[in-house]
Amino acid sequence: MNRITIKFKVFLILFICGLMAFGQEEQTSTLIRNANVFDGVNEKLQQGVDVRIEGHLIKEIGKNLSAGSQTTVIDAGGKTLIPGLIDVHWHTTYAYTPATVLLANQGDMPEVAIRSMTGALETLLRGFTTVRDPGGNPFAIKKLIDAGEYPGHRILPSGPFMSPTTGHADHYGILETPRDKRTMNYWEKNMMSMTSDGVAEVRLRTRDILKYGATQIKITTGGGVSSEFDPLDVSEYSVDEIKAVVEEATNYNTYVLSHVMTDRGVRTSVEAGVMCIEHGFFASEETLKLMKEKGAWLSPQPMKEEDMNWTNPVSAAKYKQVVDAVDQLYPKAKKIGVNIAFGTDQLMDASKAKQQSEYLVRLGEWFTPYEVLKIATSENARLLEMSGPRHPYQDGPLGVVKEGAYADMILVDGNPLENLELVGDPEKTFVVIMKDGKIYKNTLE
Ligand SMILES: [Zn+2]
Repeated sequence: MNRITIKFKVFLILFICGLMAFGQEEQTSTLIRNANVFDGVNEKLQQGVDVRIEGHLIKEIGKNLSAGSQTTVIDAGGKTLIPGLIDVHWHTTYAYTPATVLLANQGDMPEVAIRSMTGALETLLRGFTTVRDPGGNPFAIKKLIDAGEYPGHRILPSGPFMSPTTGHADHYGILETPRDKRTMNYWEKNMMSMTSDGVAEVRLRTRDILKYGATQIKITTGGGVSSEFDPLDVSEYSVDEIKAVVEEATNYNTYVLSHVMTDRGVRTSVEAGVMCIEHGFFASEETLKLMKEKGAWLSPQPMKEEDMNWTNPVSAAKYKQVVDAVDQLYPKAKKIGVNIAFGTDQLMDASKAKQQSEYLVRLGEWFTPYEVLKIATSENARLLEMSGPRHPYQDGPLGVVKEGAYADMILVDGNPLENLELVGDPEKTFVVIMKDGKIYKNTLE
């Protein structure tokens, strides 16, 4: 067991003891004094202000606020207070589960759950207080985190991502072909991934997934890197099938996001009503303009070749093609002005999950630090709003520091709007991390 693991265990025990004590109290009240506040929207910091948190919301921001006798006071000493970070492409149950378990389509769900729970705490301690989960089964994890029983980030789950047979979610072996559609594999039964074919089945599975608690629906309409039977160039699902998913999601007052990379696939998806494109690396200027017109979102990942070690040569070759396209996509999308989201899609390697923070710094290759932080906070929160009444956190806005917002905040030692590198080293520079009004880390004491 390494040092970090021990530290997390100690933290977890302290946290649970704290939680038991917390249960006996009324509403908690915290006053953060003398902070320079980045509100998530405006570039100009509010200098030397106090922020009062009552319960799980930000109650008041101003100069020289008074503290009650029960108030926990944190002296920020002029450090920078920013909104909690949001990752809109974070697989709670895939990020910390090794490929040997996930891709082999086996391994116990309890194992996945335990690994993922540890991951949720580590992710929170990197300052990511909210994620949109575009594939996997994080429903029980979300329930326990939201109830305050375990530490972790907020989750807007998509449930199992869905593809047709031969698509990105087809993890049936070649010897199981032709498939018997009356059976499901282990991951499908456990809502980790899903295949569906034909309009009728696509509707049924979409409804199943919504019933299970998905706050938006994730499909794949083009080839993927990790999957075996779908080269990058292929299109997945017919237009009628995509439209059927979109109609079911729209009836449920939410939206569809799709994993797709080719220009043709992106265009077909957007024309059929998909509102968020995951990856989209080969999208042309014309297609990006169409996305802008429709108010759709682009959610790419700033990946580099060294990020992943693919043992399978087919996946390795696909991955190379994708990372080569990243450099061109961001400037194109920025110039056209399409809605750009930040999501990291870390997969199947607990030791690499911390790349999540590095990805944020990498956005600095194409955006100013202010633009990067705005994307990862208030802009990402704006994307999450597309879940409408299915958005699970309705008490206030996320991704901003303002009165009435959720008290999800990070106190940064230094000013990340001047030095973006600071967000790449959260263990050192994030001195206070608060989510839902509760303090999960405070190294100032
Ligand atoms: Zn993904």
